[in-house]
Amino acid sequence: MFSKDAIYKITIPIPYPIKDVNVYVVKGDALTLVDAGMKTEEAWRVFERKLKEIGLVPEDIEQVILTHHHPDHIGLLDFLDGDLRVLGHRLLAPWLSHDVRFFDRQKEFFLELLKQFAVPESFASHLDHLDLSLYPRNHPLTSSIQEGDEIDGMPGFTVIETPGHAQSHIVLYNEEDCRMIGGDHLLKTISSNPVLEMPYEGKERPKPQLQYNESLKKLLHIPISVVFPGHKDEFFDPHLLIRNRLDKQHERALTVLKHLEKQEMTVFALCKLLFPAAYQQELLFAISETVAQLDYLEQYGKINKRIENGVLLFSAQRRGDK
Ligand SMILES: [Zn+2]
Ligand SMILES: [Zn+2]
Repeated sequence: MFSKDAIYKITIPIPYPIKDVNVYVVKGDALTLVDAGMKTEEAWRVFERKLKEIGLVPEDIEQVILTHHHPDHIGLLDFLDGDLRVLGHRLLAPWLSHDVRFFDRQKEFFLELLKQFAVPESFASHLDHLDLSLYPRNHPLTSSIQEGDEIDGMPGFTVIETPGHAQSHIVLYNEEDCRMIGGDHLLKTISSNPVLEMPYEGKERPKPQLQYNESLKKLLHIPISVVFPGHKDEFFDPHLLIRNRLDKQHERALTVLKHLEKQEMTVFALCKLLFPAAYQQELLFAISETVAQLDYLEQYGKINKRIENGVLLFSAQRRGDK
């Protein structure tokens, strides 16, 4: 059993290198589940068992709030029955819609992008994360929530939009006691990947590293006592960690700049240089990290970009370049 307003963590296995994901049960005026694990039988069995340990059954859950749309955070929605309120950012809605066209558009976008990055076609299988079967289909988003919204049934908590790791990312913040339920925005021992995504509006793709840095800096302006993250352990007073993450990313970008001072490169060539082992197994992770540094350097006018035969080429800005 747990007390009112306590945040209870349930850790659920996932078939990814990070091994597990956290979901949180919060008993405010309503019984709320924050995030919903992965759509596997094993994840459901573990979830049910751990829920029972605190005297609850899945039917007790009245609403689910999703921090972002990644499959390891939304999948168990499909195992939950009944009239469920499902809340999340408006950009999360299509991921719960089971709309084949939306997923096809994603794949088309990425195939085109990989061409521009000079990634060989043999890597197309790395778009498996866009497999429709990973996404739940039984519950649509019932309400969208945005910056500053208070959460019905969860007094004290408000929404902070934190795009970067995902375009749909939000965190929940309690102003009274400074607790934060943080999703994947900030993890203690792993730096969050600024994942590339298709544009939702307009034609330009989002620049997730730039968004992510802004979303991190936003948290420097508010006191935070403890973060309940989407993976691994809780951590306290994250401001130092945030500054560290920003510094590390700046250093990574400078390493990329050094490579580009030596020669003009495609994204894929740079990616192989930066992630000689990881790019084969986790191409999208490695490509996202590479593009992150290029977007960052481009923002500060440090690199040139040109396109030749449909392939992007990057080089360091020399003195006298415009
Ligand atoms: Zn995520
Ligand atoms: Zn995650």
